[in-house]
Amino acid sequence: MRRQQQAADEEAPPDSYYHSQYGESELRLVLVGKTGAGKSATGNTILGEGVFASILGAQTVTKICKVGSRIWNGKTIRVVDTSAIFSPKICSTDTYQEIGRCIALSVPGPHVLVLVTQLGRYTEEDKEAVRTVQEIFGIEAMRYMIVLFTRKEDLGGGSLSDYVKYSDNRDLQTLIQKCGNRYCAFNNKATGAEQEEQVNKLIEIAERMGWENGNSYYTNELYFMAKVMLTDGNFEEKCRNFGEKVKQHITNQRDIAEAEQRWGLNRIRKACCSIITVYLWRPVIFVIYAICRIGCAICRIGCAICRRGWRCILSLYNYWFG
Ligand code: GDP
Ligand code: MG
Repeated sequence: MRRQQQAADEEAPPDSYYHSQYGESELRLVLVGKTGAGKSATGNTILGEGVFASILGAQTVTKICKVGSRIWNGKTIRVVDTSAIFSPKICSTDTYQEIGRCIALSVPGPHVLVLVTQLGRYTEEDKEAVRTVQEIFGIEAMRYMIVLFTRKEDLGGGSLSDYVKYSDNRDLQTLIQKCGNRYCAFNNKATGAEQEEQVNKLIEIAERMGWENGNSYYTNELYFMAKVMLTDGNFEEKCRNFGEKVKQHITNQRDIAEAEQRWGLNRIRKACCSIITVYLWRPVIFVIYAICRIGCAICRIGCAICRRGWRCILSLYNYWFG
């Protein structure tokens, strides 16, 4: 059963897939987040059927990125389920190829990046996943992100907004703020009307976000390259070659981020140096100030004597020669 699922997972999409038109009536969603958060289960809820393999386990069952679609209110919804590409250390060639596949499957660019995280469990791993998303898609990606909590049933009838509002997880609060307060929750075990209602809510948020973003979708130079490269030919082979370009892009992004960080640190260091210099020169400044004050005081006495003396000389002059 598991082998069958894996075989289905590794099946490449038909080349003709890329010849489809990217009409306005299509909504593209990419599911991102750490392994085990519930991405595949969420994808299945959105599609209304079990397209992606979703099994509880320490290791991910999603070996390669996969795509599925459905028609919803006359609109095509394309969902890309991702494998473990958001783990902190991207370094292997396979991972770069997988990122390339994810990009290829969401060409010309996703309208929504759905950050999937488990309710009540926003951990360091989730934070790393967000960081990796930003590395791949850039900081701009946050404008297209919606936070989706899985295991909604754990709320036990409580309000999701209250949960978010009163959560003491500062990192989660920051993330939601960065995402423009866009979030929703899924119980991926739900069926029928409850399932549809959850999907409606997500799409409603996605459409509102689309309106705020001027009906644009997220895209970057990698998507542009993918669009040109993947027009025809063997999909797998193209993905392999594309992995190199992805690696280059991510390395550049990292260099830019490091340079920015260095620039920020340099500024902080300079400010600290100035404060320390002023602090160290304090006794010297105090001595100069004291000398000035004493000088002024002496001068004031001196001035009075001088003025008096001058007046004496003047009166003597007048007495004798006046
Ligand atoms: P992925 O690695 O992010 O794709 O995570 P999966 O979709 O494979 O989910 C991991 C486990 O969490 C599976 O056993 C799912 O059945 C379970 N799961 C996902 N969402 C929910 C949910 O909303 N409620 C419950 N009870 N289990 C869920
Ligand atoms: Mg999965």
